[in-house]
Amino acid sequence: MSTSLTLVQGDITEQSVDAVVNAANSSLMGGGGVDGAIHRRGGPDILAECRDLRASRYGRGLATGAAVATTAGRLPARWVIHTVGPVWSATEDRSALLASCHRESLRVADELGARTVAFPAISTGVYGWPMGDAARIAVETVRDTETTVEEVRFVLFDEAAYEAFATQLRP
Ligand code: ADP
Repeated sequence: MSTSLTLVQGDITEQSVDAVVNAANSSLMGGGGVDGAIHRRGGPDILAECRDLRASRYGRGLATGAAVATTAGRLPARWVIHTVGPVWSATEDRSALLASCHRESLRVADELGARTVAFPAISTGVYGWPMGDAARIAVETVRDTETTVEEVRFVLFDEAAYEAFATQLRP
């Protein structure tokens, strides 16, 4: 069965899905943007699990392009999949790392048995990735990834982000 790609303009913390992807940073200790919103709304259980991950498998933090799951706490989801996007660079092509975030998040989602997964526009906030290019990489990567996830929902905060993703989905 093929995966359907859908778009919503809104807040990722309000999505009723199996898994929500967090645009985390390598510390896994929270931050601004999507990360801040997820911890604020999801409550302290998420951070507690992130602390455990730091104390066990991820003593040096989560690598850029990697992904790991925790509980979703009080969010209307079962899991949060934390992934660390690359900071955008004008001099170095880091696209492979941004693609890796999407591929690795789907791999973790498959391991969990998640059927519906919501993604934010990873790296397009404080990490500065141009929205149109991020949308192209996100959509191409999800389309090219073999996964048992049935719906990948991109949740875009504003109209410009929504339009950038809609452009990529148009045939
Ligand atoms: P990064 O550090 O990877 O750049 P950010 O969280 O700063 O991640 O931003 C990623 C994108 O998510 C930005 O386009 C931002 O506008 C958007 N965003 C911020 N908060 C939310 C939210 N609650 N739901 C969905 N998207 C959000």
